[in-house]
Amino acid sequence: MKSVKFPDGESLHVGKILCLGRNYAEHIREMKAEVAPVPVVFIKPSTALVESGGSVVIPPISNDLHHEVELVVVIGRPGSGIPAEEAMAYVAGYAVGLDMTLRDVQADAKKRGLPWSVAKGFDTSAPLSAPVRREQVGDPHALTIDLRVNGSVRQSSNTGHMIMRIPGIIAYCSTVFSLEAGDLIFTGTPEGVGRVVPGDRIDAHIASVGSLTVGVR
Ligand code: MG
Repeated sequence: MKSVKFPDGESLHVGKILCLGRNYAEHIREMKAEVAPVPVVFIKPSTALVESGGSVVIPPISNDLHHEVELVVVIGRPGSGIPAEEAMAYVAGYAVGLDMTLRDVQADAKKRGLPWSVAKGFDTSAPLSAPVRREQVGDPHALTIDLRVNGSVRQSSNTGHMIMRIPGIIAYCSTVFSLEAGDLIFTGTPEGVGRVVPGDRIDAHIASVGSLTVGVR
């Protein structure tokens, strides 16, 4: 899957997937990380996408796969240098996403000062629900967001706890990357991230946006 399809039938090709790190204070605390002076942005390739109902496959280089549930912004039209006041007009809709992370590989990269591309961008690292239109969601910064593993709640928060909000994220990202219709922006995860193992089932939900279910292999 390299496209996202809205319920009304419109399909957008996914060119790139931008992801915010450290965008919820409680998650920064649990990672024993520091609040970043500038936004932490990384990229996943579109080959990382998995539809709901699919599986996340742990690559042989890792023994510590973590879940991170995130509100995902679907960009609807191209732009660069977008002012924050105009940013919401570039949002086509939203989806539920999982920023699946090889925590052991990431920890090693952090220690060595190396990039996170492998830890964050491996095949199946970006499960994504079907998107919904922006107009159906109302305020995207007031949505309950939660994740269960085998039925047990692991993450439960609200998108109101985002540090950098969607207009600021789009404005910032568009100063560096030209945005295109179909680009996705993962807006960061709240606290409660943790390990999953083969055989686990992950259910993620964001109010007004939708649900996503994947298995782990
Ligand atoms: Mg994340």
